[in-house]
Parts: sequence; C-alpha cells; structure tokens
Amino acid sequence: MAVVRAGARPTKQGAAATFTGVVFQDEVLVGKAPSRMRATMVSFTPGARTAWHSHPVGQTLYCVSGVGRLCLKGEPPRALNPGDTGMIPPNTMHWHGAAPDRLFSHLAMSESGEDGGGTSWGEHVSDAEYTAKTAD
Ligand code: MN
Repeated sequence: MAVVRAGARPTKQGAAATFTGVVFQDEVLVGKAPSRMRATMVSFTPGARTAWHSHPVGQTLYCVSGVGRLCLKGEPPRALNPGDTGMIPPNTMHWHGAAPDRLFSHLAMSESGEDGGGTSWGEHVSDAEYTAKTAD
C-alpha cells in the first residue's frame, strides 16, 4: 500500500490541441499492468470543454462540483450536476466540459485498450455544437 501526497503531483493544464478554454488536470491513478485503469480529476473553467474524442473501453465521469455538459455524437448535450455519473460506451465520439457560465469538475475513469491504446482525438467542439440546447 502507498499514499501519494497531493503535493507530489503538480496540476497540469489541458493542451490547446485537445481542449477549448482553460482546463486543469490532477492525476489520480495511472495503473500498472495488469491494471489498465486511469483516473484523473479534471476541472473546467466556464465554457471550457474537451475536443471530440473516444475511449477504447469507454469512460465513466463522476461529477464532483459545478455544472457540466456531456454530449455523445448524434445526441443533444446533457447537463451533469454534482453526484451524477456519466457513462460513455467504448469507441463512441463525445465531448464533456463546463456549462457556459459555471465551473465544473469531474473524476474521469477509463481503461486503455487491450493493445495499450488510449484516447482518440478529433476536431474541437464548435461554439454551435457547444451551445446546442441541452436535454434533461
Ligand atoms: Mn471522454
């Protein structure tokens, strides 16, 4: 067993190539084989979001604070509130981020593929896609 102290791992900023707006990432876990688990606390400033992307084994998002958005390709965005869990199927294009006027943070959990592959990134989410009316 081990305890990794918060101060041992500085907060990173999300790369402009894969995020719109200002996003902060705190690593929680990068599993060592045979684990393929990865967990990251992600904090989005208002209006910030990921680019379109997919995960080989899907992803689970646990909403910790604020108000967010989760959108699967071909569907309207859904609001995420504290305590909500968003579940994204394998190899499904989607984006997630903050609401336009609120901070948002989620714990993102996913596994790499059997071949070690990780997230596949696509285009940035346009303002029109981002501001589309949310479904409940
Ligand atoms: Mn995702």
